[in-house]
Amino acid sequence: MRLRITNSVTHLTSSLLFHLQKRRKLFSTLCALWFCLLGQGLLAQPMLFTNARIIVGDGSVIEQGAMLVDGESIVAIGDAGELSSAENGTTFDLSGKTLIPGLIDAHAHIGYQGRNGWGAENYTQENLIDNLQQYAYYGFVAVFSAGSDAPGLAIEVQSRLALQQFQGARLLYAAGMAPPGQGPNNQFLDQALAVEKSTGANILWGLENPEQARAAVREVAAQDFEFIKLWVDDRGGSQQKLAPSLYEAVIEAARSAGLRVFIHQQFAEDMPDLITAGAHGFLHGRIGSSLNAAIAEQLSQSNVFVIPNLGLGELRSEAIGADRFLGQVLSSELRSQLLPGANRRELSVSRSPQLEAEQRESFAALIDAGVDIVLGTDAGAIPNHHFGYTGHRELEIFVRLGMSPMQALQAATSKAANHLQLDDLGLLQSGYSADFVILDANPLEDIRNTRSIMDVYLKGKPVDRAVLQQQWQGQ
Ligand SMILES: [Zn+2]
Repeated sequence: MRLRITNSVTHLTSSLLFHLQKRRKLFSTLCALWFCLLGQGLLAQPMLFTNARIIVGDGSVIEQGAMLVDGESIVAIGDAGELSSAENGTTFDLSGKTLIPGLIDAHAHIGYQGRNGWGAENYTQENLIDNLQQYAYYGFVAVFSAGSDAPGLAIEVQSRLALQQFQGARLLYAAGMAPPGQGPNNQFLDQALAVEKSTGANILWGLENPEQARAAVREVAAQDFEFIKLWVDDRGGSQQKLAPSLYEAVIEAARSAGLRVFIHQQFAEDMPDLITAGAHGFLHGRIGSSLNAAIAEQLSQSNVFVIPNLGLGELRSEAIGADRFLGQVLSSELRSQLLPGANRRELSVSRSPQLEAEQRESFAALIDAGVDIVLGTDAGAIPNHHFGYTGHRELEIFVRLGMSPMQALQAATSKAANHLQLDDLGLLQSGYSADFVILDANPLEDIRNTRSIMDVYLKGKPVDRAVLQQQWQGQ
């Protein structure tokens, strides 16, 4: 299903042509404007998507629903019988299909994973765009890249996206802060420092004392950063752990400048003091026996979100190259690294029943306390943890550990949008951006049905997934 330029638009174009044919210069200018507007979707016809099951994103579902899209926005949503097509609009009958809001990955690191390998050498504007296109391919409409980006390049990519020069997930990025010369895992740290060197950008801000930490926050606020990623981790003794006096200074200064602070921490025991200091969220939930009901209650009371980020560990030893859903986007080179037997990867990985039980209990404590669990994957932080695909796998893990499919979808839509302050994403509601996914099968019956992607729309325009797939498989 693709947007069609209907008769009335064609008629208008030919009238313009008739009146302007003698004024060629003006004509060509107007033509450029016309096609620009078409390209922006501003002259797009309203589209009615009807007879679909609509998963709104807030926990509700319309079993036989309809959604009206005009330009870049959803303008009405309701029961199929109550909503009719606008004049000159196009109607799509989606009987048997399901609509969900576009998905959001609230923890990733874009730029480093390329089509044929991983590392600083891939960190280019072209590759950042490619990564965002892969997210879109998999139904993701926004991604939070956590403290590993060159801001100049990220801003350029954001503006190219705003101009609709390509279709991809929206990019949010953060200033990384840690003790001087530290932060990301040791393998990733080398790559981030290499990008600092090659781009001349400041990616990681080293914190030495509270006064200087506050100055660093003011500096990034002046550069229009909206988020700070803070590492509080000694990396098993190989790095220095950020002192409480420093994270307290950063969080306090960030809050007064209107920035949000997301934490990488290794242990649940560190969470209470960080919550008290005012952290907004945790990028690694550390689900398990140490993340207990008392911490869950404190998280809930403070409206602090948690990203469990479990797939990062689980998928490392799985032969994910054999999964056709991932195979769709992989070059033969990368796929060969991920097949059974390659790099000690196995088709099915056995899990410790005890660890599984601990995780289920901890997960239940978070859900019972009403903590906002948000989807994030850490995709891109290590080689071969692929964008978009890993988000679908994380949804499966959420359901395996005790969430309902509806709760898992909320974690990947409205809850993620809320904590990332993406005010027009995460819900299929009037006034929201027309960023959505059409699924062939119902994910409420089986969460793996999020894989049955028929179409992805960004700002009211379909993503040409077949072209992207062809392009990637040819590499
Ligand atoms: Zn990360």
